[in-house]
Amino acid sequence: MALIVKKFGGSSVANAERVFNVANRIIDDYKKGNDVIVVVSAQGDTTDDLIEKALEINPKGTASKREMDMLLSAGEQISIALLAIAIETLGCPVKSLLGWQAGFQTDSHHSIARIKRVDTERLKNEISKKNIVIVAGFQGLNKYDDITTLGRGGSDTSAVAIAAAMKADLCQIYTDVDGVYSADPRKVPTAKKMNEISYDEMLELATLGAQVLNNRSVEMAKKYNVELEVLSSLEVKPGTIVKEIVKMEKTLIKGVAKDNNVARISIVGLEDTPGIAFKIFNKLAQYKVNVDIILQSVGRKGTKDITFTVPKDQKPQAVEAIESIKDSLNFEDISVDETISKVSIVGAGMESNPGVASKMFEALSDAGINIQMISTSEIKISVLIDAKQADKAVTAVHDAFLG
Ligand code: ADP
Ligand code: ASP
Ligand code: MG
Repeated sequence: MALIVKKFGGSSVANAERVFNVANRIIDDYKKGNDVIVVVSAQGDTTDDLIEKALEINPKGTASKREMDMLLSAGEQISIALLAIAIETLGCPVKSLLGWQAGFQTDSHHSIARIKRVDTERLKNEISKKNIVIVAGFQGLNKYDDITTLGRGGSDTSAVAIAAAMKADLCQIYTDVDGVYSADPRKVPTAKKMNEISYDEMLELATLGAQVLNNRSVEMAKKYNVELEVLSSLEVKPGTIVKEIVKMEKTLIKGVAKDNNVARISIVGLEDTPGIAFKIFNKLAQYKVNVDIILQSVGRKGTKDITFTVPKDQKPQAVEAIESIKDSLNFEDISVDETISKVSIVGAGMESNPGVASKMFEALSDAGINIQMISTSEIKISVLIDAKQADKAVTAVHDAFLG
């Protein structure tokens, strides 16, 4: 007998048939004598539809984050109840719980809250009564008793948090593909499924845009040593195990990821004197902007240009931050480009192997794709390119290393 945490994503519970499919898979494990805690996301595109509804009322998108959290958390409330009704109908004891009922305490950063702790009393109590427990993912409660959400894709993190707090034997993340692939299998037909991947490599892939797992969930799994399995909710077969140590494989590059959520900001004609970069990035930090790639180049007539990237949704804050110091900075122009994508390769083996970057650039050059910016670390190389060419770039780079 084991304690199993299972998480089902939005597409896995999108309609009545799928809800029953998931219910049956849960019941299979329960009837084998296991304790089962299930985390679910909102059905299908519910979260996006709720965002649209808010935009109908407030087209500027300036609704307060508190109210947006109140709205978006409703999606998961529907799916937990429907799944519990299905399990009840199939004759098994079940209890659905909202995030706060399941003990999720978070900080107060509405729309991107961090889990502080999971108070497991209620979960343990329901389990001891032999109930299957269905928990609403993506949500918690802050110290003012307000509902918070954990950021898009946050249900993965809810599941890992429960697995860590309850010391579960297994944490299974069910989705609409049958594991983690070397690139998005819906976009790259030659992508290969991995049997295993390390936390570090999965964390890079997730952070660089592979949405199959939320990056915070991987971070938390690594911290609390929760082994994850990513698997299909529609087919019964083994998925991909995410864990600390994986067998050394010959492949240098583990995977390729794409991120469209990037905006590039260029400040042109800055004075070429000490302290300018500090002034800019200090101000951006004060505005809580996450800066990613930074490039400084020599401009005309003894000036310099500074270009950097930020997540698209932080563009307004970034521009506001720069405008607020416009007078003391004394630059010629600021421009923003949102038609770009970041394509990255990830692999722990690249550190000790020269020639990886050149091979990536060759693949892009052969495909006629222009590189706008480059950034590297020990286990990844990212390039910024025209968004229209992103899918072509992912396939070209993937096939050069893994095809
Ligand atoms: P869920 O609703 O179950 O949380 P998501 O849509 O968040 O599902 O994540 C699953 C999707 O992630 C897949 O449908 C796939 O298109 C995409 N994906 C992107 N990169 C990868 C990858 N490297 N391996 C597997 N799936 C990937
Ligand atoms: N429903 C939320 C979202 O769409 C959380 C999740 O799916 O994990 O982002
Ligand atoms: Mg997801």
